[in-house]
Amino acid sequence: MTFLDYAPAPESTAILNLKSEYGLFINGEFRPGNGESFKTISPATEKQISTISCADEKDVDSAVAAARKAYERTWSKLSGADRGKYLFRIARLVQERSRELAVAESLDNGKPIKESRDVDIPMVAAWFFYYAGWADKLDYAGLGPDPRSLGVAAQVIPWNFPLLMLAWKIAPALAAGNTVVLKPAETTPLTALLFAEILQQADLPDGVVNIITGAGETGSDLVNHPDVNKVAFTGSTAVGRQIARSTAGTAKKLTLELGGKGANIVFDDAPIDQAIEGIVNGIFFNQGQVCCAGSRLLVQESVHDEVVDRLKARLSTLRIGDPLDKNTDIGAINSASQLGRMRELSDIGEQEGADRWSADCVLPSEGFWFPPTIFTNVSTSHRIARDEIFGPVLSVLTFRTPAEAIAKANNTPYGLSAGIWSDKGSRVLAVADKLRAGVIWANTFNKFDPASPFGGYKESGYGREGGRHGLAAYLAPAYRTAAKGGRK
Ligand code: NAD
Repeated sequence: MTFLDYAPAPESTAILNLKSEYGLFINGEFRPGNGESFKTISPATEKQISTISCADEKDVDSAVAAARKAYERTWSKLSGADRGKYLFRIARLVQERSRELAVAESLDNGKPIKESRDVDIPMVAAWFFYYAGWADKLDYAGLGPDPRSLGVAAQVIPWNFPLLMLAWKIAPALAAGNTVVLKPAETTPLTALLFAEILQQADLPDGVVNIITGAGETGSDLVNHPDVNKVAFTGSTAVGRQIARSTAGTAKKLTLELGGKGANIVFDDAPIDQAIEGIVNGIFFNQGQVCCAGSRLLVQESVHDEVVDRLKARLSTLRIGDPLDKNTDIGAINSASQLGRMRELSDIGEQEGADRWSADCVLPSEGFWFPPTIFTNVSTSHRIARDEIFGPVLSVLTFRTPAEAIAKANNTPYGLSAGIWSDKGSRVLAVADKLRAGVIWANTFNKFDPASPFGGYKESGYGREGGRHGLAAYLAPAYRTAAKGGRK
């Protein structure tokens, strides 16, 4: 340890009161699943945290039936103001238990505690507070007077922001008057199960939210259940495609939040110091396991060398290691299979002729780790410039004119996010106007707010989450449902 090294500062896990086994949360209570239980592990140590039940088709059926009953008998009968009270209560309980939730999230997912503590969990509370405020104002959601809820929402979420994706899904669904069956990802079920305890604490009526655990098969049973009215999915484009196919021709309303290959465009007049921090945040936040990550850096040729040199110097200062240590910048990769994908695509990058550079850091001997990595000399045809790596790997490409930057940024099957770094407001607006991406940041990156809609173009999916737009996914205009005797 040198004079300037940080001493270890691990967050204590004493605040956790975890069970050795968790059941499915159906109709307000925990019960064992019929499927084969599985373990959830810490990706930083590979040690088991708890045993998790698996829902089979019958369990999925029970969960959907509980949600249907709660919808018909309770939730759709409550006023918007009363639904809002429950959501406010949930938001406050999340805040009260925020430290515990942050520790559980970092333990189960591998993300640094400073991210779960300062970003994920505060945003979870913010999402519930925001949509609590909408519950009695649905007439102003832009869907005409008296819009109707849809019924039972089936929601399947990924492992990269486990509790935050739950909040993005559950908060608008409940505000709009729907009931929910949600399935968290199999590698990160823990905070969804703690959230189920919060729902019990909040006295949410039984069956309004049901949380079922399991892997892809459970997810498939849920989205294909004939009695769900709405499907919301966040995850890979491959699974999103399958769901689009299987729900086509049904009356189910569908929103998909899928992958991305975001372009972060740095012009020669950009504030370089600020841009370096933005690039780091864009691709190394949450180990790059972010659908809207700025995984392609498009840098104007005249500043390429300066940007890359400064970036390497900055990456050399990042601390990688124990996710629960308050000094950690880069935590563990979520699973062995995700790590395998990063290694495979990075090796392909090298084989295809790009230059690979990784920060010189010591990786822990147990768990799943990948060093912050930059590829230079990348061309648009390289796999690392096209495929979503979903890891701490940045592909650097160059451009000479704004037109070339726009063409390269749009040269992707995805269209989720982009960033523009320039001193000129007029250039930022002109370029933003031509980018095919759902979210575009200017002189910043990875900024989220519950009032701001988020979603993609092309293979990044369809529909928007967040803001007033996020409510539209869970509501139907009254004129459309009235004829069918639609539900309020
Ligand atoms: P995935 O799509 O397989 O899993 C996401 C969720 O869908 C999980 O809860 C999973 O159990 C469930 N699921 C899997 N198969 C299903 C099916 N047939 N029907 C219904 N639900 C199903 O994603 P993954 O394998 O965990 O990750 C693979 C890749 O997906 C990543 O490398 C990354 O590129 C992408 N990804 C994107 C996001 C995002 O936020 N957009 C999040 C996670 C992963």
